[in-house]
Amino acid sequence: MKKITFISDTHGIHKDIESQLDGGFMIIHAGDVTSMGHTKEIRGFLKWFGSLPYQYKVFIAGNHDFGLQNYPLEHFNIPSGVFYLQDSMIEIDGLKIYGSPYCPTFGRWAFMKNRGKEIAEVWSKIPEGIDILVTHGPPMDILDMNLYEVNCGCKDLLARVETIKPKIHVFGHIHENHGSMHSSSRGITFINASNLNEDYQCVNKPIYRSYEDCKKI
Ligand SMILES: [Zn+2]
Repeated sequence: MKKITFISDTHGIHKDIESQLDGGFMIIHAGDVTSMGHTKEIRGFLKWFGSLPYQYKVFIAGNHDFGLQNYPLEHFNIPSGVFYLQDSMIEIDGLKIYGSPYCPTFGRWAFMKNRGKEIAEVWSKIPEGIDILVTHGPPMDILDMNLYEVNCGCKDLLARVETIKPKIHVFGHIHENHGSMHSSSRGITFINASNLNEDYQCVNKPIYRSYEDCKKI
């Protein structure tokens, strides 16, 4: 079966999930590839990601990945078969995939925008007609509950997602709410692909969907 594997929030200990990645068509990583975003960490991730036995490897940055915010992409060696999305889209084998690293502001991290007008402007760039949306943070009230039982997703992201209706919306960021759910009223499958738990232990499994489940008709 032609399938897509979703992972996220590996924070530098990606080798811990390697045995569960059986290769194939495509893997998508929804950000936080490092713990502190240093160049060395990003290069280490890229070397590993590029070596995985998938035909296509797509990733975005997350709030920990400072290096991808602070340096131009040419600073890193992107291996062949690896595609980095930053408020941009790629079409692979008929699948339109759009990725954005932004989260609503909290603390002092990378790729953050204030809730409201500022972040809504980022989401307004997500085009209509995409099959898979990859963002680092979740939309409001969907797989977005943290340890303190606070829903920390983005309301403006949810509004945009409900308008453009991708087939899949994958994210991470909130380690505590790993899992997936299908909203039949919206016709969208939401995936929180965080592999690390709240204690940064790599215990959550990769999530898979078939090509057909990811493609808008
Ligand atoms: Zn994380």
